[in-house]
Amino acid sequence: MARFIFVTGGVVSSLGKGLAAASLASLLQHHGYKVRIRKLDPYLNVDPGTMSPYEHGEVYVTDDGAETDLDLGHYERFTGVSSKKSDNITSGRVYQDIIKRERKGEYLGGTVQVVPHVTNEIKKFINNDLSGEDFIICEIGGTIGDIESLPFIEAIRQFHYENDTSMSMFIHVTLVPYIASSGELKTKPTQHSVKELRSLGIQPNILLCRADREIPLDQRDKIALFCNVKKNNVIQAINAPTIYEVPINFYNEGLDKRVLEYFSLDVKKSIDLKMWKNVSDSVLNPKGEVNISIVGKYTGLADAYKSLNEALSHGGIYNRVKVKINWIESEDINESNVSKLLSNSNGVLVPGGFGQRGSEGKILAIKFARENNIPYFGICFGMQMAAIEAARNLLNIKDASSSEFGKTKSPVVGLMTEWSKENTVEKRQSNSDLGGTMRLGSYNAIISKGSKAREIYESDTIDERHRHRYEVNSNFCEPLLKKGIIFSGFSPDGLLPEILEIPSHPWFIGVQFHPELKSKPFEPHPLFKSFIGAALEQLNKK
Ligand code: GLN
Repeated sequence: MARFIFVTGGVVSSLGKGLAAASLASLLQHHGYKVRIRKLDPYLNVDPGTMSPYEHGEVYVTDDGAETDLDLGHYERFTGVSSKKSDNITSGRVYQDIIKRERKGEYLGGTVQVVPHVTNEIKKFINNDLSGEDFIICEIGGTIGDIESLPFIEAIRQFHYENDTSMSMFIHVTLVPYIASSGELKTKPTQHSVKELRSLGIQPNILLCRADREIPLDQRDKIALFCNVKKNNVIQAINAPTIYEVPINFYNEGLDKRVLEYFSLDVKKSIDLKMWKNVSDSVLNPKGEVNISIVGKYTGLADAYKSLNEALSHGGIYNRVKVKINWIESEDINESNVSKLLSNSNGVLVPGGFGQRGSEGKILAIKFARENNIPYFGICFGMQMAAIEAARNLLNIKDASSSEFGKTKSPVVGLMTEWSKENTVEKRQSNSDLGGTMRLGSYNAIISKGSKAREIYESDTIDERHRHRYEVNSNFCEPLLKKGIIFSGFSPDGLLPEILEIPSHPWFIGVQFHPELKSKPFEPHPLFKSFIGAALEQLNKK
């Protein structure tokens, strides 16, 4: 039977609850258990698909086509377990389902209320779609004390008391700040946060205390006393030099043992964390450094490109180099500064994106990389812009554009109106809803023999995650081929171009999908391994 671990956060946001959940999950896997991690988000959007990456960070896409919170990316990268639609819920989705049912008359005669209707729905989600897992770790978004997270806290409280209480536990992640003027770490914010949690009926079993330095034992004992938590279960989570050290640190602090003890499970003497040690050693002791320029739109917030950042660093881990990212705001690029901005780059990457703003800067960056033999990697929007750049500058179609930017006579990139999904055909129109209607999730692509992509993937068929509404117009493939741009990957029906490459260029690849979503530190994605390898070659040639 599954055991449930609820992870909440206190004092401030951004304490790394997601990373804590993912690291604990990895430790439990090392003990031989099957785990699954879920995220419960209190905001009212049905999913984060329509939220600005500026506000909320990247939208993570699962194999089964859900647009989810970026924490699901951490979960996958740390555990290798593919997340599913059923692993992320928001208040918006809960209310949407309940209101739909209310309109159908399913609650006829009743008053629909937060308790029990909303809380029941949340409890159903926690327990839904399980397949023999030993542990389900549920991270509750937000911070204790937020108004909007109250139904979630109430639901996990009920869940704990309605089921066998020895089968679920609560871990609270808090902050123990260092106050420079008094030269002390302060426990009061943690005490207050636990007090708040207890006033909602939840007694945490373990406290994970984030601090920038060692928390003296007497301070930890004080937290235990005031928060009614066993001394051993007050665990320090000291800032780590790389996120890959977090599972190792938690292990050294005994987090896995305290969890197993709680559930009366055998605690092995030791587990082998070689996997994490190798990864973190490679990150902390690189043998060189490559400069990669990312030309994007939300460069002010690193979380907006979270998986991309991670996948590049995985490529660096594989090649044992540090990947230094130079974020370039695409709107700042013009004809006269492009060479200055990019000439020190060993690789240029244009990531996924939406809308016309900044697209001209991206096109200029792509032209510069193509003409100057700088490795270029275009992801989704970055592939589409590469096709437009080639059409404008190699085919001389000066008004080549995307129908995403408005009506155009030369739609090198156009709206996808239908595509095959398993045995059905999905259809869209220009006025379809924007939420959840893109070509989303995992689709196969077939790669041509003899292409660079084929060599990189070492396979003819690949399976990658998508999130797009537009596609390169296949009418332009033939003319572009004459100019040395080949389309080396297509959807299995041969209709949608999936990969573009320039064989005469050292490394120029555009892909219609998001390979960054499947890269793992201990299993870097082939395209990222190869791209960083090409950047390293470019550096060594200089
Ligand atoms: N805006 C483009 C489209 O919808 C690209 C999307 C993306 O980069 N994820 O097709």
